[in-house]
Amino acid sequence: MYQKNIWEKYEDHGPIFEFNEGYKNFLTHSKNERLAVKEAIKLAEAKGFKDLKEFKTLKAGDKVYVINRKKNIALFIIGTEPLTNGLNILGAHIDSPRLDVKQVPLYESYDFALLDTHYYGGVKKYQWVTIPLAIVGVVVKKDGTVVDINIGDEPNDPVVGISDLLIHLSGEQLQKRAANVIEGENLDVTIGSIPLKDKEKDKVKENILKLLKEKYDIEEEDFLSAELEIVPAGETKDYGLDRSMVAGYGHDDRVCAYTSLMATLEIENPSRTCCCILVDKEEIGSVGATGAQSRFFEDTIATLISKTEDYNDLKLREALTNSYMLSSDVSAAVDPLFVGVNELKNSCFFAKGIVFNKYTGSRGKGGCNDANPEFIAKLRNVLDTHEIVYQTAELGKVDQGGGGTIAYILANLNMNVIDAGIAVLNMHAPMEIVSKADVYEAYKAYIAFLTDIK
Ligand code: MN
Ligand code: MN
Repeated sequence: MYQKNIWEKYEDHGPIFEFNEGYKNFLTHSKNERLAVKEAIKLAEAKGFKDLKEFKTLKAGDKVYVINRKKNIALFIIGTEPLTNGLNILGAHIDSPRLDVKQVPLYESYDFALLDTHYYGGVKKYQWVTIPLAIVGVVVKKDGTVVDINIGDEPNDPVVGISDLLIHLSGEQLQKRAANVIEGENLDVTIGSIPLKDKEKDKVKENILKLLKEKYDIEEEDFLSAELEIVPAGETKDYGLDRSMVAGYGHDDRVCAYTSLMATLEIENPSRTCCCILVDKEEIGSVGATGAQSRFFEDTIATLISKTEDYNDLKLREALTNSYMLSSDVSAAVDPLFVGVNELKNSCFFAKGIVFNKYTGSRGKGGCNDANPEFIAKLRNVLDTHEIVYQTAELGKVDQGGGGTIAYILANLNMNVIDAGIAVLNMHAPMEIVSKADVYEAYKAYIAFLTDIK
């Protein structure tokens, strides 16, 4: 089957480039889930969304958002139909692979101060050395004060980084398996090298602590209640001489989060209630209070029902059962340098539109959501009506590997769910790549889904 190249579909590429400027800005400023939630709130409030707490009751047309522990957000536009008829839901995750700072991280070695880390999600460890890194996150002091940390992203900020052995002395290292060339315990970040005067020992570490005290009023013990992440430093950039692609950190899955969010913000007075939910912790199994497995989503729908009519549990179950969802996550695009891992009829390509995966999983579909063909047929009908370019794929050859998403978790609530998303190159690397054409076309697809699926 031939899918049209989106660049050839549109005479005028202006809207594609314009939409991607917004995305580039979002991605630059959303380097962890907390920052992504902050950016989402900013964009939503500009479109008239308000915190659900401000509403005693809800009526058709109301635009609300609910934040869960600053790391997970759900947005809704209340429809004219009752919630028991179901919702049209877009879901994506806003956490990305990175290096988390340990609870007791700071040490000195040979006149360097370093931070110990524990990587988060699936990373090829060797990709994270000798690149400029930033520190983002929060330190929460015993009195409850939350100190925001963001070092490395402003043009004049210093960066930090992880060293690697020089090639001249790497004979032994290069004999190791790629998984062990850089050991997880060696992903320690260099943060300083000036000794503090008049100190007996650990003078460099003492100097760093002095800087932290001066700038943030925090002590070494405050790392115990901190959530700090080491992420690639710098701005999202255009990629390619024709600027057709975007190079940045965390397309997985903020590219689906942004396009889902922006589509939701476009909706006015829908018949079915529209929802966009952005979750945390997908990269480590969707566990915990802010992950997709949390009761947060069900509880929030229950709250919405209670603010539109008399609540009972059966109504909540009905609302979930009658819902449709695009669970969006990036899809592995065919890379011209590594075509061998794909079965090309069932693979996705750049500029060929939003990707639908009937199933993900690994080796025999293990652990996946397997979307119903009745739902897929509905989607085909809506997308074709709107002349939206889309493709279908699976993750690599049958026995090649695999991966999971949040789709099965919401499908377990007995709603109609399919995996959708945007094709990405270099998935989980510090610099991932997407096609601007796909970003734009996914946004169009999400709008069509929200307004037309019933
Ligand atoms: Mn993902
Ligand atoms: Mn991922």
